[in-house]
Amino acid sequence: MRILLVEDEPDLGKAIDRTLKQEKYIVDWAQDGNEAWEYLDSQWTQYTLAIFDWLLPGLSGIELLHKLRAQHSFLPVLMLTAKDRMEDKVAGLDAGADDYLVKPFGMAELLARLRALQRRSPQIQPQQLQIGNLALDCGNRTACHLAGNGKNPTISLTNKEFQLLEYLMKHPNQIVTTDQIRNQIWEASADTFSNVVAAQVRLLRRKLESFGCANLIETVHGVGYRMKRGEI
Ligand code: CA
Repeated sequence: MRILLVEDEPDLGKAIDRTLKQEKYIVDWAQDGNEAWEYLDSQWTQYTLAIFDWLLPGLSGIELLHKLRAQHSFLPVLMLTAKDRMEDKVAGLDAGADDYLVKPFGMAELLARLRALQRRSPQIQPQQLQIGNLALDCGNRTACHLAGNGKNPTISLTNKEFQLLEYLMKHPNQIVTTDQIRNQIWEASADTFSNVVAAQVRLLRRKLESFGCANLIETVHGVGYRMKRGEI
């Protein structure tokens, strides 16, 4: 799940960025409104959620919202701001914000608000994915092996392994190219080497192998990968 964070205060931005990444979100962090718009306008990445600070250099959070909604985007947006006057909240919500968090706030509350936005947004469903005997809970960010004996052991995945598996499971039986995976799973700022996707797929397969699920991910030579539905 990919989040665009737009926050110009370095310390707060860094803290949010770190917290979200610990929760296995893929995060692009823009520090001004114009940079944020470049991310939003890009055809290469699709965001699941966005967090906009209100006061920003360049375009403000409200201006970003106006531009986004003018394009008929339903991207769920959480506004962050020190403004806590009632008329500001109304202006934010009228501009198309989905929720509102007043600074200062705790990271636990921010994460809870994001989870609530995910639950409310039909385009982010389903929260539970299952292919073969592999189940992924996108809300709790966990994977487990449906062993069939009532025991469903959790498969311990790194953040990148989880993000890759989530992306593949959301595109069952479709060929996804190596470039699509790289653009969607790695942060725009990441310094990726050319075979980073292949290396990550190898690691994920090895992890799944111990649960008998390794052959769910098929290599389509010269193109990319395909998650096979229904095979174990
Ligand atoms: Ca600010």
